[in-house]
Amino acid sequence: MIVTGGGRGIGAATARLAAERGYAVCVNYVHNGDTAATVVNDIERGSGTALAVQADICEEHDVLRLFETAARELGPVVGLVNNAGAVFAQKKLQDMEASRIRQIFAVNVFGSFLCAREAVRRMSTENGGNGGTIVNVSSVAARLGSPGTYIDYAASKGAIETMTVGLAKEVAAEGIRVNCVRPGLIYTDMHADSGDPERPDRLKDTVPMKRIGNPSEVAETILWLTSDSASYVIGSIIDVSGGR
Ligand code: NAP
Repeated sequence: MIVTGGGRGIGAATARLAAERGYAVCVNYVHNGDTAATVVNDIERGSGTALAVQADICEEHDVLRLFETAARELGPVVGLVNNAGAVFAQKKLQDMEASRIRQIFAVNVFGSFLCAREAVRRMSTENGGNGGTIVNVSSVAARLGSPGTYIDYAASKGAIETMTVGLAKEVAAEGIRVNCVRPGLIYTDMHADSGDPERPDRLKDTVPMKRIGNPSEVAETILWLTSDSASYVIGSIIDVSGGR
């Protein structure tokens, strides 16, 4: 199973849980090799199998190399968790630089599309594959729109949800189930990247459950979607948000 952005946050929790459930896990990262190596070491200490692979999902040749390496070192790809994502400093649309908007869509949309494409090419029974699962990681931002903070990010997640619905139907008869999780406020480094590390705790009272989620709670839902327990579930977008 390939987990993009698997070295930190929700991706790291997903990689760890996937290994516990018996998957050989390819932990993708773009810059933070140390955290990815820690995830791999932890998995191996627990007698699991894992491999860290640096690849920028915005770059097609990197994505091709990521999938080739995973297949060569770990065996046929049976799952993709399209988790890698980026967010930038909070501001209104009128103040956003073009380069920033382009980069958000490059990582969150273009990169996720490239990874999904490669997964389908390898897993589709029409291409001689054995089928598999894809789980996309959206955000409640796709529903809320994130006014005044990052509507570029919110809109990019909307695109991932539409891709989920379309691709799920496109490959349903080819042995591939495509679904999506929509996390709410989760404790990860992402909030510091948006220039607001205190954001989760500040917004805690807007969550009906009055608490922030943990990466492992998102990972549990992702691994359920990849499992046979979800064998008749496709094109679903599941909120993991404490009701937010
Ligand atoms: P995080 O801790 O900041 O981790 C982001 C991960 O994405 C990192 O592993 C990073 O790799 C990787 N990444 C970024 N750009 C990449 C690229 N171009 N190529 C490959 N990998 C790249 O964030 P997180 O909160 O766990 O976020 C994971 C997913 O959950 C994202 O899609 C995010 O939008 C979504 N989400 C998060 C929350 C939340 O509250 N945290 C809420 C809703 C949705 P490096 O480690 O190498 O930098």
